[in-house]
Amino acid sequence: MEKYDIIIAGAGISGLGLAYFCAEAGMEVLVLEESERTGGCFHSNRFGKDAGDFWLELGAHTCYNSYTTLIRIMEGCGILDRVRKREKVPFRMLADDRICSIPSQLDLLELLLSAPRFFTAKKGGKSVEEYYAPLVGRRNFKKVFSPAFNAVVSQDAGGFPADMLFRKRARRKDILKSFTLEGGLQVITDSLSARKGISVLTGRAVRTVAYGQDRFSVVTGDGTSFSAASLALATPAPVAAGLLRVSFPDVADLLSGIALKTIETVGVVFDTKKVSYPPMAGLIAVDDSFFSAVSRDTVPHPRYRGLSFHFKPELLDEAAKRRRIAEVVKTEPEHLEKCVFRRSALPSLAVGQQRLVEAVDSRLAGKRLLLTGNYFLGLAIEDCVSRSLSEFTRLRDLLG
Ligand SMILES: Cc1cc2nc3c(=O)[nH]c(=O)nc-3n(C[C@H](O)[C@H](O)[C@H](O)COP(=O)(O)OP(=O)(O)OC[C@H]3O[C@@H](n4cnc5c(N)ncnc54)[C@H](O)[C@@H]3O)c2cc1C
Repeated sequence: MEKYDIIIAGAGISGLGLAYFCAEAGMEVLVLEESERTGGCFHSNRFGKDAGDFWLELGAHTCYNSYTTLIRIMEGCGILDRVRKREKVPFRMLADDRICSIPSQLDLLELLLSAPRFFTAKKGGKSVEEYYAPLVGRRNFKKVFSPAFNAVVSQDAGGFPADMLFRKRARRKDILKSFTLEGGLQVITDSLSARKGISVLTGRAVRTVAYGQDRFSVVTGDGTSFSAASLALATPAPVAAGLLRVSFPDVADLLSGIALKTIETVGVVFDTKKVSYPPMAGLIAVDDSFFSAVSRDTVPHPRYRGLSFHFKPELLDEAAKRRRIAEVVKTEPEHLEKCVFRRSALPSLAVGQQRLVEAVDSRLAGKRLLLTGNYFLGLAIEDCVSRSLSEFTRLRDLLG
């Protein structure tokens, strides 16, 4: 049985961000990751010899200068020099199978008449629909804003807590307002995985967690046992709930109420000469088989363009997805030479999430069991690393 100061299950940005803070404090950290790669939702697919240096984001794609905790981690990893500007290209909508501008879809009179409500509206305790629909008008909400919010979270966003979707945060004025990295955002999780003091084992799903005699022990899918004085779960909530069922059933009960929504992503690369869709940051779909398509036009490449289509789950098989993509960009399916497929998942958060988090935190108090992920403060990358930082701080204070 190997011994570490802390074991972290899950090598997405939440787990690796936590690993960073622990390693900085001199702890020996072991990260166990189920998949064969680290990064989780950070997935910058690099096409290698197939398409030179071209990469396409299959998951997270944009960071902002308000992501101050993430920027602090990037500074620590020495990768701030890889920050790259995102070109200003507009988001567009796909309405009636035509790619059009967002303003062209808005009812401006309704917007104008509703807008004054912005000055008095309060987000607290309201869902996205309850808060935004009166502010933009019901018709505008249904036709434009609801599809746009759904595109942000790749699922129906109407029931999300309004105050968890977009948070106001302080900005780092010395950093570009919105940015990516040369090579894609995965450069961040790649650097964290390679950091001194952080051992990462991939292909090792944590299957059981036990607590006794002041230590945690975990067993991975291949039957190996590991033990440590502290344990962090940085997996999706339902996985954490399953792992805590035996030793921490009260926490497991709370987490089991958080649903997970699957996203079926198809990344497609085109020869720039073979497609002529207008430059865009992304495409918002309305009542379609996909929620959005995120574009590489924000980081232009001389030979290639690319789109990552985020499809609704279980609707279309691979061939049907290719056909739908070809229809959207007005090309032939055979021109989609380079296609990559990925499944990911995001939690479905509901009003009352804050109370649930408070209940979880009150049960974690005084324990060397840490929980982090995108279901505490929100889905954004900064929400994940902020949660990881606060869990690290709680552990540090506990250890004295
Ligand atoms: C398509 C998409 C686009 C997005 N775009 C943006 C964006 O532009 N900007 C932004 O701020 N946010 C964005 N987000 C949200 C953000 O990327 C995620 O919320 C965040 O990366 C989640 O990180 P995480 O570490 O909490 O979870 P994950 O990235 O899901 O990582 C969890 C990890 O746990 C592993 N795991 C699961 N079970 C086990 C087990 N039993 N044992 C060990 N490991 C296990 C998984 O394999 C995974 O690697 C986007 C998300 C998606 C899906």
